[in-house]
Amino acid sequence: MNIAEWLATAARLHPAAPALLEGTEVRADYATFARRAAAIAANLRTTYDVQPGDRVALFLGNSTQYLEAFYGIWWAGAVAVPINAKLHGMEAAWICANSGAKLAFVDSDTLVTLGEARANDADPIVLLDTDSAAFSALYDATATGSPVVREIDDLAWLFYTSGTTGRPKGVMLSNGNLVSMSLCYLADVDSVEQRDAAVYAAPLSHGAGLYNFIHVRHAARHVIPASGGFDADEVLDLGRALGSVSMFCAPTMVNRLVAAAKARGENGEGLKTIVYGGAPMYLDDIKAAMTVLGPRFIQIYGQGESPMTITSLPRALHVDRDNPRYIERLSSVGIAQSAVSVRITDDEGRPLPPGEVGEVEAKGPPVMLGYWNNPEATRETIVDGWLRTGDVGKLDEDGFLTLSDRSKDVIISGGTNIYPREVEEALLTHPAIREVSVIGVPDPEWGENVVAYVVVESGAQFDEKIFDAHCLARIARFKRPKRYVQLDELPKSNYGKILKTALREMSARAEQR
Ligand code: AMP
Repeated sequence: MNIAEWLATAARLHPAAPALLEGTEVRADYATFARRAAAIAANLRTTYDVQPGDRVALFLGNSTQYLEAFYGIWWAGAVAVPINAKLHGMEAAWICANSGAKLAFVDSDTLVTLGEARANDADPIVLLDTDSAAFSALYDATATGSPVVREIDDLAWLFYTSGTTGRPKGVMLSNGNLVSMSLCYLADVDSVEQRDAAVYAAPLSHGAGLYNFIHVRHAARHVIPASGGFDADEVLDLGRALGSVSMFCAPTMVNRLVAAAKARGENGEGLKTIVYGGAPMYLDDIKAAMTVLGPRFIQIYGQGESPMTITSLPRALHVDRDNPRYIERLSSVGIAQSAVSVRITDDEGRPLPPGEVGEVEAKGPPVMLGYWNNPEATRETIVDGWLRTGDVGKLDEDGFLTLSDRSKDVIISGGTNIYPREVEEALLTHPAIREVSVIGVPDPEWGENVVAYVVVESGAQFDEKIFDAHCLARIARFKRPKRYVQLDELPKSNYGKILKTALREMSARAEQR
């Protein structure tokens, strides 16, 4: 089974249905969308020798071309490697090389970023600019035929997730993973109809992009906001103009949407569903959101390794105010999605009874095949078919999961994961820095902010501006510390391990003062 068959079917059944929109402007109906995908696939094969199973990277901001390129890749039986467009060129180049991508779709911005990073390569990767006339010529070619036949367990999406090891790992998602994730959406998240409009205000390279499949299956509308990203006023305008809008939002985006609606005296007219997740949502925030926008919310909890699909807190439970456990449930991330089993285990991996806190584990068809070319990391993460999420939480007797912490040190800022190790490694390459430790500090707007605790070499200067420029040259902008704190030494355990907990306490004390 090839996931691109869903597009072929939608185009056969609903050729004239609007498919791709920029703002409120329709750019392609389903017949055109499918024809372009077939044409891109034919070109990938004939011009670039892309064979089934070959990897093709996508390093570009949200656009309708992104979806066309996606389906061109799958139509050809190849594997999409979507890369967050906010990454540094060097980070994107590393992912291209690690995945062995044959070529990369880029836009006019990322063309420069990736081009510079790969300028000195002996065999630089081919870059296809989706903003160029060459791309339109590529997709305007006449092409017929069906998507290349693929097996359900064949790789379709290679999702690079940052890791505690400092280098990102490629999460291998098969056609089957994508299908079961999409069917869980229908069973546990929301219904989908042809009149719906999926608005992509969060990066298509991530969770929001994964929700395209179920909307393609139902020949619904795919909308790229004219701003290319998230603008709360624009989303409210799109709701009014298009109606039946569904979208994925990180909690930070939900809060902004609520503030904008409040300021305009609106209640989110035309917004059908806001699926939120990716980072903790505070109880007061979701209550405030429902007061302003009404019963439009559904929460999901997932991770790249079981994409968007571990638990969900359905719409009905958001408004089940008479239930004696209402507040407890609203503070949870909901119950296991239909295709997934969830359990909590202790340090030895033994299952724990309800009420006890331990690591969250998930098992079921959405769980990844493993990490790309990294059997060791796969063995550590999937044990007897159970995915060790690295999240800490507890289940109640009714199966509601409440997350309390993360066992990994990951920082989630604005819904995006930032691994301290990556930032620390970048900073440690600066000659003035002897030691550094990076933590996430609570922030009402972003969830967490990145803060670096730095010990400088004796006689060296502590200069935030210089450290910031150093980070800018090496890692994505959004990963840079928002603040630097100078220390004479870092707090350490008897074994010499840096105590991030002590830094977190230090930061909390400083906040209180
Ligand atoms: P990613 O792999 O980038 O999608 O990040 C997944 C991580 O985000 C999870 O392991 C959790 O730590 C966190 N996360 C995802 N959804 C939620 C949620 N609904 N509430 C709290 N944290 C979440």
